[in-house]
Amino acid sequence: MAEKIPYKIYLNEDEMPKAWYNVRSAMKNKPAPLLNPGTHEVMSAEDLYPVFCEELVKQELDDTTEFFPIPEEILNFYKMYRPSPLVRAYCLEQKLGTPAKIYYKFEGNNTSGSHKLNSAIAQAYYAKKQGLKGVTTETGAGQWGTALSMACSYFDLDCKVFMVKVSYEQKPFRREVMRTYGASVTPSPSMTTEVGKRILEAHPGTTGSLGCAISEAVEVAVGTPGYRYVLGSVLNQVLLHQSVIGLETKAALDKYGIKPDIIIGCAGGGSNLGGLISPFMGEKLRGEADYDIVAVEPVSCPSFTRGKYAYDFCDTGMVCPLAKMYTLGSDYIPAPNHAGGLRYHGMSSTLSQLYDDGYMRAVSVPQTAVFAAAEQFARVEGILPAPESSHAIKVAIDEALRCKETGEEKTIVFGLTGTGYFDMVAYEKFHDGKMEDYVPTDEEIAKSLSKLPKM
Ligand SMILES: *Cc1c(COP(=O)(O)O)cnc(C)c1O
Repeated sequence: MAEKIPYKIYLNEDEMPKAWYNVRSAMKNKPAPLLNPGTHEVMSAEDLYPVFCEELVKQELDDTTEFFPIPEEILNFYKMYRPSPLVRAYCLEQKLGTPAKIYYKFEGNNTSGSHKLNSAIAQAYYAKKQGLKGVTTETGAGQWGTALSMACSYFDLDCKVFMVKVSYEQKPFRREVMRTYGASVTPSPSMTTEVGKRILEAHPGTTGSLGCAISEAVEVAVGTPGYRYVLGSVLNQVLLHQSVIGLETKAALDKYGIKPDIIIGCAGGGSNLGGLISPFMGEKLRGEADYDIVAVEPVSCPSFTRGKYAYDFCDTGMVCPLAKMYTLGSDYIPAPNHAGGLRYHGMSSTLSQLYDDGYMRAVSVPQTAVFAAAEQFARVEGILPAPESSHAIKVAIDEALRCKETGEEKTIVFGLTGTGYFDMVAYEKFHDGKMEDYVPTDEEIAKSLSKLPKM
């Protein structure tokens, strides 16, 4: 008789991934290169060294190497909280009455409460190895800033975080977690940078955006000796580090001979989704297997479903390289939405290319439906999910209900990227019936897209 499949699949130490997988190596159409925002010339490694750590630049630009060995120090850190469990959502399946089998990969088992620590520790490691004093970054909802402060304190690096002002004021708890790990946290836009001053002059009283915070963090990194800038999503290097999620998921499924039909993840900048799908996408690209791969985004920030595939600025201050991606325009300010981690105007260029080539699909969901799904999940699976993660839950439930209608016994795997304990104000709004579903008009999107750089 076949070995019984456990409710939660963990991996043994010898089954754990020892190298990250670079999905770009399997892509025929490679993601478009980063361009200089002034000259529109392709950015070389040397152009990027003043901003990013050297080793990370090499990973960023490498479209051919299939596997990057994970350094020993990072493997040791991963031992603190990995492997993360792959959980069979039996109770949810029962509640839905679906013949589908639902699995989720849970990345919320660490203090930062999300998958972001997987890349934060890698980026801090390479900064330390290069002999840097510290790093700068931006954070929106605060998950990335928290993960990075944990990683920096582990390697004894200074960490300067520019936190979108509205979150700085509304999410004091996340801010204090960062300070517990020794990071300095500045509300953005601030008067401490030239770009911050410029933005404040043009938009007095603005509560900030990720795009502004990025510009400030880059300015400080470039202007302070011994500092570099690090980013928690969107970039190829971040997807590479996050491939640990997908590699563990695949190893766990393979161990019991389970083949997923549908793989679902929420998409902000694309790092958790890119990481989760990487090894599966590799098989799909090589024609070895087929999977229905689904990106889920909020209707209020629909980069894939309503954006344009074009070169765009990555930040409001227009100091970062241009990236070709599905974008709503760097001027796009999404309506207040409680999934802070999904509010970026653009999308990973790797995922953008894969989406454009038809290897995956995307759906957008309204936030009240997302919170209804979050609550349904919390009640039967015992985890209070992050609003971002709940986008994937919503679509996993929809797919499972579709199976109920058709009688198909599909296997659904989704990424549960984190926990929502710091998002209780959002849950409160939902419970009080005060949450709104904002859908941007075509005019609004067209307006911000009209400011794309002329190529
Ligand atoms: C940041 C974040 C996301 C979205 O970021 P991606 O780069 O698209 O993965 C999703 N879930 C959680 C919990 C996050 O913190």
